Amino acid sequence: MSVTEVINPTTEAVVARVEQTSAEETDIAIARAHRALPAWKALAPGDRARLLRRFAEAVDSDVDNLADLEVRNSGHTIGNARWEAGNVRDVLQYYSAAPERLFGRQIPVPGGVNITFAEPLGVVGVIVPWNFPMPIAGWGFAPALAAGNTVVLKPAELTPLTAIRLGELAREAGIPSGVFQVLPGRGSVVGQRFVDNPLVRKVVFTGSTEVGRQIMAGCAARVKRVTLELGGKNANLVFADADLEKAAATAPYGVFDNAGQDCCARSRILVQRSVFDKFMALLEPAVQGVVVGDPGNEKTEMGPLISASHLASVSSYVDSDTSVAFRGSAPDGPGFWFPPTVVTPRSAADRVVVEEVFGPVVTVQTFADEAEAIQLANDTEYGLSGSIWTENLGRAMRVARGVEAGNLSVNSHSSVRYTTPFGGAKQSGLGRELGPDAALAFTDTKNVFFAS
Ligand code: NDP
Repeated sequence: MSVTEVINPTTEAVVARVEQTSAEETDIAIARAHRALPAWKALAPGDRARLLRRFAEAVDSDVDNLADLEVRNSGHTIGNARWEAGNVRDVLQYYSAAPERLFGRQIPVPGGVNITFAEPLGVVGVIVPWNFPMPIAGWGFAPALAAGNTVVLKPAELTPLTAIRLGELAREAGIPSGVFQVLPGRGSVVGQRFVDNPLVRKVVFTGSTEVGRQIMAGCAARVKRVTLELGGKNANLVFADADLEKAAATAPYGVFDNAGQDCCARSRILVQRSVFDKFMALLEPAVQGVVVGDPGNEKTEMGPLISASHLASVSSYVDSDTSVAFRGSAPDGPGFWFPPTVVTPRSAADRVVVEEVFGPVVTVQTFADEAEAIQLANDTEYGLSGSIWTENLGRAMRVARGVEAGNLSVNSHSSVRYTTPFGGAKQSGLGRELGPDAALAFTDTKNVFFAS
């Protein structure tokens, strides 16, 4: 049995030792999930709904504990961590309405009638990255369970603690044995079995584009359904007619939230040239005002990066040649700290402009007009999210339609609302999560003809 040490990124101390699930144990858990299917799927929709609501209530009563675990395991600020636990509760509540709304259709045909049924797929494997361990888990397992599937979930090796706790809460709430199992372990072991084991009928993957490609290839070999939520290099477009004070005051939170470890981080600010100087003058105090420090402190707005190796990766984007406009602060001493950093790149081909840094680093470039704004925003292999700041509704509409991304916000940095669909274009992913149709995406349409 191999054991991983879970490190607190704020103190670098070991907070827990977690047993890793082996490939054989993963297959045993998948077989258990498969055996649990018939009863779960046969449960009256209202009863499945009630169990999901009980699960939501169990999460609600444990919000403070879950949040505390996330602060220690992931270095998330306490305010964010509470929101994240509450998001799992809300997503469970939202999809608890789905079992009673998975309607089929009745279609008139010659000689009889056709009826369609939304049948659960079977065992669903959910693979979660380390950056938002709780919400990303919930966005997968809640609609999958609601649709009558059983779920095996693999948290990231670095951040398994809240997922393990969610598994316990599901059991305490009465979710039957085998219906929802959390399997901590390596991606190349546990995650790979989700892809390779034929009893798993769908893989929900959130993580890097590189691993996503491998998962998709593995699923293709088995004609297995897959949803991919991958990286982002999102534009924050600021037009001269925008409320510049608001755009500049909120821009740091659009990129430095969760220390920039966010697929939706607005990591490329694109400003109309005529207001560049004014915008930068407003942005500087906003960046320097970001409170970086102990994530357990209620006033803290940004904590550490997740690990020493991730700190090395983020640091590699800012060296002595990088044109840093200004920076915020970061504590000294233990912890994987990197200050909020604003870069004015020399070229649009610079690595810091092209690649997903996944840390608190933002580039600022300029554009002349709407056409160039759209061209620069789309000059990336990614297409996940973005923001458009303008007081001109027509322009907002034109630019939103022109930017190739799955989720855009006008005069806001909001990205994920569980009531609306979420997902990426281009290399940012495949398929959509959340929103009113997500439970249906965990079903297959069965078409039955009845001769009259
Ligand atoms: P990775 O792709 O490295 O890992 C994501 C998950 O996949 C982890 O649980 C990992 O396990 C697992 N995994 C790794 N290799 C395999 C494999 N061969 N087979 C199956 N599973 C595997 O990404 P990161 O953890 O580094 O997460 C950061 C990335 O996630 C960023 O690119 C970010 O943009 C993206 N992301 C996308 C989101 C979206 O919704 N579009 C949201 C959040 C993040 P292990 O525990 O071993 O690491």
